[in-house]
Amino acid sequence: MSLADLARLIRRTGRIAEPAPPGPPTPPAPDAAAVPRALRGSAQVRHVDAGSCNGCEIEVAAAFGPVYDAERYGARLVASPRHADVVLVTGVVTHNMAEPLRLTVEATPEPRMVIALGDCAATCGIFRGAYGVRGAARDVVPVDLEVPGCPPEPAAIVEALRRVTGR
Ligand code: SF4
Repeated sequence: MSLADLARLIRRTGRIAEPAPPGPPTPPAPDAAAVPRALRGSAQVRHVDAGSCNGCEIEVAAAFGPVYDAERYGARLVASPRHADVVLVTGVVTHNMAEPLRLTVEATPEPRMVIALGDCAATCGIFRGAYGVRGAARDVVPVDLEVPGCPPEPAAIVEALRRVTGR
């Protein structure tokens, strides 16, 4: 496809992102005080699947896709915890993932936040008591924010990230 064809296709398709819902309240909600000031405006997110069924991952992909487009609110997925401000944990924490999760959070520079995304990360969900499960995210690392749902909808994921960026 030539560049001219590509430009025509982009013009024809137009914007497909959902209209932006209202932003976080101004002044910020009381619990926003827990968000470090340095993360306001832009937050780099390292996602860790600690033992998910992959349902939450599909919704995370949708949240960062062209329809929900979390990047327009200043949240961006990054590949290394060294580049991250936020660790986004999905799934229960399995025995094998407890140490990698702990090390990932430790490798994320301060100030940082940890978000437990989905019922499994927040409370173990339907996997509570299973033989391979160490616990919920907060049993292994300090958690700042929980997003309920099995799985949470992309809009809920975007809303949680907007509470961090304040945009
Ligand atoms: S919360 Fe639901 S969708 Fe997410 S990992 Fe657990 S079972 Fe899967």
